[in-house]
Amino acid sequence: TSADAFETLELKVYAYSALSDKHKHTLYKRPVMNTQQIMDRVKPIIDDVKTRGDAAIIDATKKFDGVDLVETAHVRSSPTHTVMRAPYPAEIIARVPPETRAALDVAFDNIKKFHEAQVEWGVSSVETMEGVSCSRFPTPITRVGLYVPGGTAVLPSTALMLSTPALVARVPHIVLATPPRRDGSVCPEVVYVAAKAGVEAILVAGGAQAVAALAYGTQTVPKVDKIFGPGNQYVTAAKLVAQNDFSCLVSADLPAGPSEVLVICDSTVPPAHVALDLLSQAEHGADSQAVLLTVGADDAYVARVVRAVQEEGAKLPRNKILRESVSKSYVVRCETVQEAFEFSNGYAPEHLVVNVRGVGVDVVAREVKNAGSVFVGRWAPVSCGDYASGTNHTLPTYGYARSYSGLGTGAFLKYVTVQSLTYAGLKELGKSVIRLADVEELKAHGESVRVRIEGGEYD
Ligand code: NAD
Repeated sequence: TSADAFETLELKVYAYSALSDKHKHTLYKRPVMNTQQIMDRVKPIIDDVKTRGDAAIIDATKKFDGVDLVETAHVRSSPTHTVMRAPYPAEIIARVPPETRAALDVAFDNIKKFHEAQVEWGVSSVETMEGVSCSRFPTPITRVGLYVPGGTAVLPSTALMLSTPALVARVPHIVLATPPRRDGSVCPEVVYVAAKAGVEAILVAGGAQAVAALAYGTQTVPKVDKIFGPGNQYVTAAKLVAQNDFSCLVSADLPAGPSEVLVICDSTVPPAHVALDLLSQAEHGADSQAVLLTVGADDAYVARVVRAVQEEGAKLPRNKILRESVSKSYVVRCETVQEAFEFSNGYAPEHLVVNVRGVGVDVVAREVKNAGSVFVGRWAPVSCGDYASGTNHTLPTYGYARSYSGLGTGAFLKYVTVQSLTYAGLKELGKSVIRLADVEELKAHGESVRVRIEGGEYD
């Protein structure tokens, strides 16, 4: 059985001091997807949605999700059965058990608090020179589309992570897309979250067809300005296609692909804690990755952790997925925590666990250069951030943490800059502007300043 197979699964163990730079770079690499092949698959789907709209969504949903939206007719609030509009049917929301509601409420409140602290409303100004005032103010994106994956798992947590910051950013029109369940219905927990966060419509479709509907709009799906959310390779590819098409003027968030975790621990951590932190990200999908860096641990400790991964993994229901993802995982034995941070910064993990005696948030803020979200100390398993502590779980994968931040309130806002000058300010700054306009030989630029200065002050 796969549980037996799990019990004998070995992890590759390397010693940091024995790794060449070249070998390290090989270890930093993630399993990559064949972009061209996937692009060839999604382009016809997108074109079909562009030309036929809802009819194309219905056909693609039949083909790829095995669901006939018209026949199941779960979605009655739109004529084509593709879109459910707020207010959502009370009987759907009533299917969410009170304990689940309470848990979603705790998560929502914490995510809201953390994301509210990320934005300062109003105008912030700086006087760059006397009489020259520069400021900026935030303004929400008008229409956003949130993609909540649903192919292999129900993900109300992703609905929370996308819609709460949109609400906090005061986005006026929020649309959510998620694939139908086998019977054509939408996961009630996702509907509950949508209602709570002020999502105005739910598109019951997934994959490239959902992304295309959000990017271009259809008879019933409103076109959006920016698309957010993780998804499989078809979703990710469709976001790329839409982003590169000037005709729809849509942008997208960040490359959030298969989950990853890198754990740094010393031998004071119980092996089961380490094993379950690794397994909890590896269980997301066969393409997930989990990496362990031990600090100053001996052979016996590493062996105990590997054993714990085997034992805990064999007990888990998703052990088939885990077998694939864990077989791509590895351990690097470091002597010092500096070595571990160096390797981790090179790898740029989506999730980083730092469970080392004496290493707190201050050290992490000094040493960590590239990571999506960090979990520090004994009592911060990644699951807390996945669900409910308040930080966002939409994070850069593939090593994109080198240049991208995870999702935050700012991604739902634009900042408009403003300047205002006094006559005296213009007189002084104008000298430099005229000079630079001369250098660039842009005559009108210089003249627009000169005529004002020469014309004198007026009300
Ligand atoms: P999904 O919703 O992304 O994709 C399902 C859709 O894919 C279906 O609706 C279907 O229309 C389409 N599809 C399936 N097979 C197809 C085919 N052969 N051709 C064209 N379209 C096809 O759900 P999923 O597949 O379960 O993937 C979810 C992904 O999101 C996982 O990789 C998971 O790790 C990732 N994820 C990442 C984060 C993060 O924050 N990084 C969070 C949650 C999930």
